[in-house]
Amino acid sequence: MLEIKNLTAKIADEDKQILNGLNLTVEKGQVAAIMGPNGSGKSTLSYVLAGRSDYEVTEGEALLDGVNILEMDPDERAAAGLFLAFQYPIEIPGVGQMTFLKAAINSQRKKQGLEEMPTPEFIKLVNAHAKKLGISNDMLKRSVNVGFSGGEKKRNEILQMSLLAPKLAILDETDSGLDIDALKVVADGVNAMRSPDRSFLVITHYQRLLDYIKPDIVHVLSAGRIIKSGGPELALELEANGYADIVGRAA
Ligand code: ADP
Ligand code: MG
Ligand code: MG
Repeated sequence: MLEIKNLTAKIADEDKQILNGLNLTVEKGQVAAIMGPNGSGKSTLSYVLAGRSDYEVTEGEALLDGVNILEMDPDERAAAGLFLAFQYPIEIPGVGQMTFLKAAINSQRKKQGLEEMPTPEFIKLVNAHAKKLGISNDMLKRSVNVGFSGGEKKRNEILQMSLLAPKLAILDETDSGLDIDALKVVADGVNAMRSPDRSFLVITHYQRLLDYIKPDIVHVLSAGRIIKSGGPELALELEANGYADIVGRAA
């Protein structure tokens, strides 16, 4: 599904290299967790995969089903089946949620050579997904994320994710700042979407989220590369012992 080879990237207008020859494979249907200390490059990895222009890839590739997404525009990546939920979801004043969701769905459909989704079908689809996620009609009528609590923004991201039905979903510290109820909403949303055809990359600093989203594999990121991989027990080990030990051994 996703094969990252020797990914090396830096901040676009600086010399600061952040990803240092990162190798990572995420199998089809797999839920892979990436854990790592603050500043290890977790968010940078998700931004680079999303195609944010303030990062520059200097080496390597990221193959999604064999195609290098690093050569695609961000909207092409989305159409190819990539979805990213960010640590800090953006607010879009003046753009209604329904307008935003419709544009997202139709942009994806257009790139896939499909017709626009008819409005009644779209409304039905959104309402069905929103209901499952406990998103009120009032929330659907507001501007994207404007005035939403942290928990509401996350619910909203899960709504976007479930509507777009990606092949690969990347969640970057989607647990930060969430209370336990909101955390469960995110986890339930992800768990409901688990399927043999879909992979998840769950990026988190803390083990807590992984109590609710059971990963198949855990990778540890440090100084811009994966330094260790293991089963779910690796997350518990990190929680108990901290990162210093493992990072020190790899250095
Ligand atoms: P993590 O998500 O693991 O905490 P980040 O990817 O946010 O790590 O950051 C990795 C390193 O790159 C840190 O040292 C951070 O300060 C630096 N960094 C990330 N983005 C930028 C940026 N836009 N400008 C300058 N430094 C950055
Ligand atoms: Mg950080
Ligand atoms: Mg981060």
